[in-house]
Amino acid sequence: MSSQPLSSPGRGSSARPELSTEILAFVSHAIDFASVELRKLNLEIWNNPETKFQEEKACALITKWLESQGWTVSTGVYGISTAFEARFSVAEGERTVCYNAEYDALPEIGHACGHNLIATSTLASAVGVSAAMTKFNLRGTLVVIGTPAEETGGGKYIMANNGAWKDCDIVIMTHPMPDFSSAQMTTKASWKFRAKFHGRGSHAGAAPWDGANACDAIVMAYNGLALLRQHIKKTESIQSIILEAGKAPNIIPDYSEGSFSLRAEDSSSVEKLRERVIPIFHSAAAATGCTMELFWDALYEDVVNNIALANRYTEYMLSGLEEDPKDFLDPSAQPKSAIGGSSDFGNCSYIKPGIQTLFKINATNMPHTPEFQHAAGTDYAHTEALRAGKANAMVGIDVLLHEEFYRAVQMEWEESMKARGRI
Ligand SMILES: [Zn+2]
Repeated sequence: MSSQPLSSPGRGSSARPELSTEILAFVSHAIDFASVELRKLNLEIWNNPETKFQEEKACALITKWLESQGWTVSTGVYGISTAFEARFSVAEGERTVCYNAEYDALPEIGHACGHNLIATSTLASAVGVSAAMTKFNLRGTLVVIGTPAEETGGGKYIMANNGAWKDCDIVIMTHPMPDFSSAQMTTKASWKFRAKFHGRGSHAGAAPWDGANACDAIVMAYNGLALLRQHIKKTESIQSIILEAGKAPNIIPDYSEGSFSLRAEDSSSVEKLRERVIPIFHSAAAATGCTMELFWDALYEDVVNNIALANRYTEYMLSGLEEDPKDFLDPSAQPKSAIGGSSDFGNCSYIKPGIQTLFKINATNMPHTPEFQHAAGTDYAHTEALRAGKANAMVGIDVLLHEEFYRAVQMEWEESMKARGRI
């Protein structure tokens, strides 16, 4: 295959440019050359797991390293102290390509979702694209955004509300999976919330008629949701737990609290489900004489996969980077257990065209298990993170180089947003 004419980016190129094999060889080499250093960063993050909003060590480690490579770095951006934004450019250009780095861990089981590998893969892409920009004088801006609190806390939701990704043209990231790779992650939209009922305590034996029973209220809400579950779509789900519902049977409980989770195919469906759920809580409060408060967490939107970007990624993985086709799965072939989750990358994909690709790490169990945590620290996982980082680097470079390709990406995104009623 011939390489792209670097001197005439955009002009004359088709919407599906040929694979830039010359640049791919250069980018692969640059990333392999940085592998030992990236492995150190990877292990340092893996060995020092930090949970949501406390990712200070990881944030400092990554930003210091990017600074040492000549990047301009700001920390504490977009409303989160452990978030960062790093920028790199050698020549002004129209397009800005962004890679997200996650680095938060789970409580108690460490990096059992492998976000150390997400940071590593994104740094690999950053190495590859910045090296290519320097070598081939590519025009445009390269951005790495550090996004804390993915597991819970809705880091990207907070950052998006504070203006993140607005000046980017595409957003890319990747995520480890146990035993398969893909150019597309399929997720659901998810919305968690808490409910608090305030009643009136009284002596359960002597004067129960003076009480307003907050335990009854939350049980009614719990049962109301259980009944509603019969009338929702198969693609939707409602999960409930009761956290507090009284202290002793001889006291009418004056307080109760529960935690709840809604999931649906996409954001508009989960919003409709939310509208059906809220009256259940109001009626439980009314029936028991309690007052009620609802506290909604961040909405995790569904990931809108950009197929033009995903196809590019697939081509590089299968043709240039020797990914085994039998491990590289379309969404329809992915194990069901892998596609029921949610990611706040969905929120990015509603702001700009993007992809969240997936790469295998040979784990014997799903994410959020000790087996996955172990696999996320291995040399094998590191190598696969770099492979995904190389393909993602090439997708970004194609966007910088090929105007027409980018226009196709942008048009597809506009169509998908129109279909979702968002523009
Ligand atoms: Zn994760």
